[in-house]
Parts: sequence; C-alpha cells; structure tokens
Amino acid sequence: MEIKKVGVVGAGQMGNGIAHVLALAGYEVLMTDISQDALKSAVDLIDANMERQVARDKISEATKADAMAHIATTLTLTDLGQTDLVIEAATERETVKQAIFEDLVPHLQPHTILTSNTSSISITRLASRTDRPEKFMGFHFMNPVPVMQLVELIRGIATDGPTYDACHAVVERLGKTASSAEDFPGFIVNRILMPMINEAVYTLYEGVGNVASIDSAMKLGTNHPMGPLELADFIGLDTCLAIMNVLHDGLADTKYRPCPLLTKYVEAGWLGRKSQRGFYDYRGDVPVPTR
Ligand code: NAD
Repeated sequence: MEIKKVGVVGAGQMGNGIAHVLALAGYEVLMTDISQDALKSAVDLIDANMERQVARDKISEATKADAMAHIATTLTLTDLGQTDLVIEAATERETVKQAIFEDLVPHLQPHTILTSNTSSISITRLASRTDRPEKFMGFHFMNPVPVMQLVELIRGIATDGPTYDACHAVVERLGKTASSAEDFPGFIVNRILMPMINEAVYTLYEGVGNVASIDSAMKLGTNHPMGPLELADFIGLDTCLAIMNVLHDGLADTKYRPCPLLTKYVEAGWLGRKSQRGFYDYRGDVPVPTR
C-alpha cells in the first residue's frame, strides 16, 4: 500500500520535527493539536528550521516552498480520518493517547495505519484499545527529528507484516534508518541509554565524581559527543525519571531503580534546559555545573 497522506497528532517538540521531515520527503501532512497556538508555533518553527537548511545549502528555496505547501493544520482530530498513516506524538500520558485513538477510530479509512511516537508506553496495550491492532505499531523518532538518523519501529504483539513493511518504507523515504524493536519497556534506545544516565546520576550522588568530571570522563573516555548529565538536561530530567519508572515497573528489577538524586532534581523543578536549570544552570552565558 502506498502512503501519500500522513496525519500527525500533537504539534510539540516531536510533532513539528516529524511534520518537517515528512513534508520534505514529499508526503502530504495534516497536523493537529488541541491548541491553535501550538499549531501556529509549530508551523513557524518548521519554517525557521527549513530556512536554516536553505542558508546552509542543504535544501533549495524551491524545495522549502514545496515542503511548506505540503503542510496543513487542523484543530479537528477527526479530519485525520482521511490519511493513510497517523503518527501520534501527543503528550506522554496513556489516557491522552487512548482518548485520541478512541476518538479517531470511527472516522478512519479501513486501510489507515495507526502509530505512536511514545517513548515508553506499551504499543500492544495502546493497540488493544483500537479496532485494528494488526495495523498498529510504534514509530519512535529521536529528538531533534530533522537531525537524528534513527527511527525505532516497534511491533506490538498483533502487528502484521504489511504494516511493518509500509512503515519501514516511510522511514527509508525519509532517508533515515530503521531499527526494529520488540514491544518491551524502553524498546532498545531507552532500555540502554536511560540506565546509563541513571548510573551517571548515582555516580554523582555517591560523590565518585562531580558533574564536570563525569561528563568529561564519558566524552573523552568513551567518545560520546555529550556527557550523560548534559544529555539528561537536554532530554529533560522529568522525562528521564518517567522512563526509569517505566523500566522499573515494567521489568520489575531493582537494577532500574531511579536514583534518589534524579527524583530530587525533578521535585525541585530543575528539569534541565527547558527549565533553565538541571545538572547545569543555563541562566548565564555558559552552562555552570550545579554540583
Ligand atoms: P510536547 O509536550 O512538546 O508536545 C506535545 C503536544 O501534544 C502539545 O503541543 C500538546 O498541546 C499536544 N496535545 C496534548 N493532548 C493532545 C490531544 N488530545 N490531541 C492533540 N494534541 C494534543 O511533547 P514532545 O516532546 O513532542 O513528545 C511527544 C511524544 O513524543 C511523547 O509521546 C514523547 O514520549 C515522545 N518522544 C519524545 C522525545 C523527546 O525527546 N522529547 C523523543 C522521542 C519520543
């Protein structure tokens, strides 16, 4: 089945990046959100980000104009019923996602594939609430979407072969690389990355190193482009904690216990870059370690 029109639910950080890469690859994109402001900001941001690509000679002015013309927005979720593929990238809360799929299902065409960009919620459980678990899967982009090469494709227990193949073809047309993961907590990337970040926070908590020494040790000692604490600030400490809790609850192993210091930073509202303070303080000209 050829996918021509793609619906994107949620115009936040991930939704705007997903719409950006889909439009550049020539898909018709219909993006929805509950907030008109979010839709407007997303379109403005996509425009600005594509303008940067033009300035760097990555795309031409004509390509940008063509891609922008491929993006439409609506406040009416059910308008997405006419798309071939839906990528849900709304707030990471199961009740929110379930309500979206429940509202959308009666309006879908029989062939429409449903996917979620969730970082941690069970694909099988989300699929079971729809009329088409065999046409449902995880479509997990990395942040920032236009820059990151990987898309994790996650099969729910019922996902069928043609659905997987159709999504795989979309990833290839985006010029990205798919990695196939089974539906277990954290999939592949977060199953490995989050315990490493959590361990970095334990290393800080136990005084083995300070923020600067931990990050520089991992950058210079393992060739990571960012240190784990700097990366945690970029992802958002609340998100890191939420994913650790999903691993801890879902795999029932104490090795996934969130570090109490991570919990404390989140309780303080020190969520990383988005709140200007996390393992680093971003309020000045240069980030200053907070420990
Ligand atoms: P965000 O908070 O930036 O954006 C979420 C958007 O969803 C908001 O604009 C909000 O208004 C909208 N929304 C909420 N309820 C809605 C509804 N009922 N219908 C339509 N829109 C609704 O969040 P984000 O960082 O873009 O994350 C979105 C999804 O992507 C989450 O599932 C998250 O786990 C996943 N994800 C995030 C990252 C990341 O690094 N931020 C990486 C990979 C995957």
